[in-house]
Amino acid sequence: MKGKERKVEVADELNLIKTNEVLPITVPTPFAVGPVNCFVIRGEALTLVDTGPRTPEAKEALVTQLQNYNLTLEDIDQVVLTHHHPDHIGFVGMLMDQGKRVLGHWKNDRWLQMSDSFLKEHETFMTSIYREAGVSEQYYNHVQDTRGYLAFTDRAKCDVHLAEGDEIPGCPGWFVMETPGHAQSHISLLHEQSRTLIAGDHLIKKISSNPLLEPPYIKGTERPKPLLQQRHSYQKTLDAHLSYVYTGHGEPILNPDELIKERFLKQEERSDKVASFLKNEQLTAFQVCQKLFPGIYKKQVGLTMSETIGHLDYLESENMVNKMKSEEKMLYTYRT
Ligand SMILES: [Zn+2]
Repeated sequence: MKGKERKVEVADELNLIKTNEVLPITVPTPFAVGPVNCFVIRGEALTLVDTGPRTPEAKEALVTQLQNYNLTLEDIDQVVLTHHHPDHIGFVGMLMDQGKRVLGHWKNDRWLQMSDSFLKEHETFMTSIYREAGVSEQYYNHVQDTRGYLAFTDRAKCDVHLAEGDEIPGCPGWFVMETPGHAQSHISLLHEQSRTLIAGDHLIKKISSNPLLEPPYIKGTERPKPLLQQRHSYQKTLDAHLSYVYTGHGEPILNPDELIKERFLKQEERSDKVASFLKNEQLTAFQVCQKLFPGIYKKQVGLTMSETIGHLDYLESENMVNKMKSEEKMLYTYRT
């Protein structure tokens, strides 16, 4: 009898491991960031976390690697989105049309709907940011780059909205951790028992992901401050005492706490650098950006301006800078 009981126990343990099993899939992207990682969770529902961009190469890689696990796209029951960026969710529309359930944070919705009015709102928001930051007008047309980027995904919608602390339907033991910063819609998936996190772009081993500017969700309210959100998300991740982190790009992280502390340090160092620029002169955010990213800013005005404004937001929150408006432009100075 005892032997039989033990067998049942072992079977339960195996089952637990099996239902928590995470199968990584890596697919190519046409973007500078390189390949993107998607994951299958073998839960009660066979769950795909992220899909890769909508390109023939990514689809082939997805199908082939599913086959390596003896799976097909038809076997997938549902898709969870870590965030709305096209390198992560390109096939969500296709999978939705195939009847798969789509789960994600409600803040994905405006990006999944891709309505012309939202795209215009985004462009108007970015243009007003650029104007206030003193960006040269020759760069204003870059606000439309987002449209080209969105061509790598489909219109879609979430069937289920996920929020902080929710247990993911079909994936017992997996919980939602909201991790905004890189994207407003960003969530990570925490397997509570094993302290494993599927982190999307919240945490990446080789690079620190950019905090990106996005328009507020309610028109006319204050814009989100993505670098401050990212710091908060880092702290939350540190407090979660993780042992293993699967990431959206590159290898998994075996020492997440160490990496997060390094991210904090690097960010604070860069913010200090920004502060040092402001010690002797009043500068616009664009002038800071040019000093912080000489050369790069011309090609990557969106990314470098988001990062620069992030550091200025941080310094402002630490009472280290003053800002004042002069003829539409915001001028920053070091606060002594
Ligand atoms: Zn991303």
